[in-house]
Amino acid sequence: MKGKACVIGSGPNGLSAAIVLDQAGLEVQVFETQPIPGGGARSMELTLPGFLHDFGSAVHPLAAGSPFFSSLPLHEYGLEWIHSPAPLAHPLDDGTAVLLERKLDDARASLGVDGETWCRLLRPYVEHWKAFAPEVLRPQPAIPKHPWLMARFGMTAFASAERIAGRFQSERTRALFAGLAAHSFLSFDEVLSGALGMLMAIPAHAVGWPIPRGGSQAITNALCGYLEKLGGAVHTSRRIDSLEGLPKCDLVLCDVTPRQLLAIAGSRLASYYKRRLQAFRYGPGVFKVDYALREPIPWRASECKQAITLHLGGPFEQIAASEKAVRSGKHSEKPFVLLAQHSLYDTSRAPAGKHTAWAYCHVPNGSTENMLSKIEEQIERFAPGFREIVLARRTLSCAELEVMNANLVGGDINGGVLDLRQFLARPTWQQYATSARDIYICSASTPPGGAVHGMCGYHAAKMALRRFAAA
Ligand SMILES: Cc1cc2nc3c(=O)[nH]c(=O)nc-3n(C[C@H](O)[C@H](O)[C@H](O)COP(=O)(O)OP(=O)(O)OC[C@H]3O[C@@H](n4cnc5c(N)ncnc54)[C@H](O)[C@@H]3O)c2cc1C
Repeated sequence: MKGKACVIGSGPNGLSAAIVLDQAGLEVQVFETQPIPGGGARSMELTLPGFLHDFGSAVHPLAAGSPFFSSLPLHEYGLEWIHSPAPLAHPLDDGTAVLLERKLDDARASLGVDGETWCRLLRPYVEHWKAFAPEVLRPQPAIPKHPWLMARFGMTAFASAERIAGRFQSERTRALFAGLAAHSFLSFDEVLSGALGMLMAIPAHAVGWPIPRGGSQAITNALCGYLEKLGGAVHTSRRIDSLEGLPKCDLVLCDVTPRQLLAIAGSRLASYYKRRLQAFRYGPGVFKVDYALREPIPWRASECKQAITLHLGGPFEQIAASEKAVRSGKHSEKPFVLLAQHSLYDTSRAPAGKHTAWAYCHVPNGSTENMLSKIEEQIERFAPGFREIVLARRTLSCAELEVMNANLVGGDINGGVLDLRQFLARPTWQQYATSARDIYICSASTPPGGAVHGMCGYHAAKMALRRFAAA
């Protein structure tokens, strides 16, 4: 196919779109505001020299399991996955921790009374991950290639997190599922909160929850390396404020959220479409802290050292209350905290013998509240003495996150709330297409939504190519 395309934004979705367009034969240029590409998938020395922190994404089940990334030779461009023995640990107040085992059969044994229920819930999708992932990481509704698998998933997953957790007898398993469902940013009585919990658990058993050696920047560098090999170019420190700022081209793919699309391309968009973009809703934000540490975190439960990722929030009810508060615009006194301890398994993240930690909690969109002490109270609850090993810390509020990546509107890391309405019409029922035939949106504000998997960019570019070829 002959033609020229421009991509605004070099997040994982922008780069994926650029690769698909380039693979089809178009000349592609990517324009990125920031001095380094990657958007949510960047790594930098945020605390002290020699300590490498992930600015955004830190743990990558959906990148490792992405149908599109798996089709690319990213390992030839330096991408190497590191796994901890268990994908996830969930410490509890009794000084023990629930481990989410990598193998489903090990999970059956370790979850005791709930082991069989856990396996029955997840096994079909874990065993058929290669068929399931492309079906679930695409725009919906769609005619499924595997109707039985998808019908079964749909019937279970539309239940709320509360309903799914109700299947488990043990408080420990319910707590484990609560931490997974909290990734949805939804209240646990909302539909889809259960599905998103399952979508965290399924890849844990199917592909693991790995991290890239050298930080999430390694994913970006591999995508950029492959794109450049195909002939594409990435221009950094080039913010695009309007389409006039781009070279002449046949297609424009925008790795931005609806609010930015309106500002950049508003003059080319029809009024009905602009109204729909204006109605798009952003979700809660996050308050983030990165740590440089003198030594590994002193967890009370020794199992916590088995996992890179930890969910800190205690029992189901406390995590549910924390998420409900945030969803209704309030701050939680005991926020659910996600924490990653990369340097335990990737020595490139810190000077010899030293360590890093990455943590965040959910807050209302645009929150200006400093959550540092509440986050540290949650860490100390399960790792007494944590504060004493901190060499340096760097906090990032919602506003600071947005300065470092304009897509993080009000601190929303998912490109917009993923409730039922915005699951079906994301950002509008036209999905990637806009009212202008040559302009497309390809960010996490399109299906299938947030996380590093590149599938929004992949599907957007495929749609743009189909319509370009038909024109
Ligand atoms: C704190 C945090 C933690 C996260 N944790 C995880 C995790 O553990 N695992 C996971 O899978 N995902 C995680 N995510 C989510 C993940 O990073 C995003 O879903 C993903 O990066 C979205 O990709 P994207 O390409 O749609 O947008 P982004 O990655 O946000 O990239 C958009 C790019 O567009 C650029 N841009 C915006 N406007 C313009 C403009 N006008 N001109 C030029 N360039 C522009 C931005 O600078 C940015 O580089 C996290 C995100 C954050 C912030």
